[in-house]
Amino acid sequence: MISIVGAGHAGCYAAELLAKQSQNVTIYEKNKVVGSPFQCTGILTSDIDNIIKLPKKLLHTSIESIRINAPNQQILKVKFSQPNYVLKRTQFVQYMADRAVKAGAKLKTSTKWTPSTQKNSSTLIGADGPYSTVARTKKFQTLALFEAPQVLVNHNNDNIIDTYPGIGEFSWVCPVTKDTSLVGLLAYKNSTKLLQQFLEQLSIKRSDILERNGGMVPIFNPYIKTQHNNTYLLGDAAGQVKATTAGGIIQGMIAAQQLAKCIEKGSNYDLAWRKKLFLDLFLHLRVHKTLHNFKPADWNKLIVLFKQNELRTLLEQNNREKISKFIYKVPYYEPSVLEYLKYLR
Ligand SMILES: Cc1cc2nc3c(=O)[nH]c(=O)nc-3n(C[C@H](O)[C@H](O)[C@H](O)COP(=O)(O)OP(=O)(O)OC[C@H]3O[C@@H](n4cnc5c(N)ncnc54)[C@H](O)[C@@H]3O)c2cc1C
Repeated sequence: MISIVGAGHAGCYAAELLAKQSQNVTIYEKNKVVGSPFQCTGILTSDIDNIIKLPKKLLHTSIESIRINAPNQQILKVKFSQPNYVLKRTQFVQYMADRAVKAGAKLKTSTKWTPSTQKNSSTLIGADGPYSTVARTKKFQTLALFEAPQVLVNHNNDNIIDTYPGIGEFSWVCPVTKDTSLVGLLAYKNSTKLLQQFLEQLSIKRSDILERNGGMVPIFNPYIKTQHNNTYLLGDAAGQVKATTAGGIIQGMIAAQQLAKCIEKGSNYDLAWRKKLFLDLFLHLRVHKTLHNFKPADWNKLIVLFKQNELRTLLEQNNREKISKFIYKVPYYEPSVLEYLKYLR
């Protein structure tokens, strides 16, 4: 019997894949409604299409470009090689839970897992998010976390994502409908105050706020162990998140595929998900650590450099999930970026 703690998309996808192997799977979810409250912006690259076919009804919108706004208000506009999706986050998780149940998994909502919940399970999967109870009670290393407050606001937009590096680690305005956007930021500390300042900078008033919905984001730890005997960590509980963008949905699903295969074959999960994800997660972490030490003048200069055709094309033709495929080309086109290595600690 396999117990999965957490009916987030990662736990549900693992449950579906394991149930399809005819395993006896139960998902425990502490909340009454799966996927609610949501704590995510829900931006996905088209790499999701390599994992599952998303029904259109799960999307708020598809987005073709992002603007990176420098502190001096220079703007770098990058057209994505493939449109990005903005998910209806709650419905997406409910869809993943329905798929798991259809495949034969049992789902117990309003059921908070504790070590005494299910003593006779042969396998335990902690897919219980950044504060993983499984990780803590089963003595895994806990992860450092970013704060990521976010608000849904009345805000007209042109269906382009805006990001503002240097406000927190970075901040975003992501279109949801024509006249509503998700506004948030990632920071190590003081995030509520920083978000308030950011909203003021965007001239968004308190009365424009429709909902507050942020959360915490785990910081990838290259050394993390995610398997002890028959206990495994998955998704945010395992820190499988890109440190530059806080994106973890696709990474959690790729790890779920690896986990299901490893449980079936009795092979090493720590090794299997690392083969698929480690290099890119590691590079995202190193880039994050470098950008973390940037001063506003560095951002202004970097944006000018990336406005050059070769570098902008490099960003436009590649995909941030696979940073390893193109990051090494950046100093080839613009050797001066190597000076930023001084910031890498
Ligand atoms: C503000 C913000 C914006 C983000 N934006 C993006 C984005 O645009 N794109 C992207 O790819 N990623 C984004 N992320 C990251 C993304 O949301 C996470 O990587 C993803 O949700 C992790 O999924 P998960 O299934 O591992 O965990 P979660 O989604 O956290 O699910 C864990 C589940 O476990 C349940 N649970 C916890 N403890 C217990 C317990 N003891 N018993 C039973 N149930 C329990 C919780 O209720 C929850 O349902 C964002 C995160 C934040 C905070």
